[in-house]
Amino acid sequence: MPKICVFPGDGIGPEVVREALSVLRTVEEVAGGRSFETEEELLGGASYDVHGVPMTERAMGLACGADAVLLGAVGGPKWDPLPFAVRPERALLGLRKNLGLFANLRPAKVFAPLLDASPLRRELVEGIDLVVVRELTGGIYFGEPRGIRVENGVEVGINTEVYTRPEIERVARVAFELARKRGRKVTSVDKANVLEATELWRRIVTEVHDREYKDIDLSHMLVDNCAMQLIRHPKQFDVIVTTNLFGDILTDEASMITGSIGMLPSASLGGRVGLYEPIHGSAPDIAGKGVANPLATILSVALMLRYSFGMPAEAVWIEEAVEKVLADGFRTGDIYREAPGVRRVGTGEMGEQVRRAVRKQAEGAVRNIVR
Ligand code: NAD
Repeated sequence: MPKICVFPGDGIGPEVVREALSVLRTVEEVAGGRSFETEEELLGGASYDVHGVPMTERAMGLACGADAVLLGAVGGPKWDPLPFAVRPERALLGLRKNLGLFANLRPAKVFAPLLDASPLRRELVEGIDLVVVRELTGGIYFGEPRGIRVENGVEVGINTEVYTRPEIERVARVAFELARKRGRKVTSVDKANVLEATELWRRIVTEVHDREYKDIDLSHMLVDNCAMQLIRHPKQFDVIVTTNLFGDILTDEASMITGSIGMLPSASLGGRVGLYEPIHGSAPDIAGKGVANPLATILSVALMLRYSFGMPAEAVWIEEAVEKVLADGFRTGDIYREAPGVRRVGTGEMGEQVRRAVRKQAEGAVRNIVR
């Protein structure tokens, strides 16, 4: 039986993971025949409070031995004063490194019922369906030399952007493979006009394309232009592939376009075990109140079914169930606007509505087969 390692984490993490897992149980029920073993462990601040470290060896072993990892969120003001080495966020870096997760996929899709939640005009966002593939384990966040030192009596801060050929080739392949399952279009984003590391990036992405993915439409864009184009004409994008630093910034920009941080899932891939989590943090300001939006975590389960377990039909059930629940007017506080037919609900009720809609999706699918 496939095994999922579950890290609810801190803040709203346990609240949203509870709902996501129970949607997974509903999928098991209605899919008939596929079931999953799940095992939970502490991570982040919750682990520090009990064990004195943000991630124990047991937790790491559990993640490495599983077939996929589902994570809520880690961190919070309680642990902010801790030394860097035991901060909750360190657990995430450790996980990514040990699981070899070099590609972070963040879909940004606008759900029709939420068009008005976007800060952009309706006609600009209607129909947006893009994915940013961010390189996750290289680039300036890891390059050496780094640090702050005094040279000739002057303080200097140093970081280094480094990319090797294999690092670029493997993330380019992830983007091209993904494009094959979507709109067959990749935009590679760099700053090749001033940064040599990204001049290499552009050359190697082009080589991989010309050698292995001629069926994909590849274009290159400078990062400053991409930041502008995401606002000006976001519908032009299908798959964007970019470096760690540029991806960090562009994914936040892309997520804002869709309206709410509580709606967006993510997948980190590369090794044998994929990691799935909402893009939001632990939201300490609303933790424990039962008002968090669980949809990003529920949609992360859909990504897990699609990418780790080869269950695309079941992934679509969840995604369509979410769309249906929104169309029926159910909203958590973060996406709520007063309007006729719109109802404000808490975390648990939102989860329950999605479970109901998944059951209906599955029944509809069975009826279609019987016909
Ligand atoms: P955040 O994403 O936790 O919250 C930002 C704002 O969005 C808050 O107002 C919050 O209430 C709201 N929000 C976020 N998710 C929501 C949801 N599901 N439903 C409704 N509203 C939601 O970002 P932050 O406040 O900058 O960070 C809080 C903590 O989370 C920090 O300790 C940070 O380090 C950590 N963090 C962790 C991760 C992670 O685990 N991957 C990612 C980002 C931040």
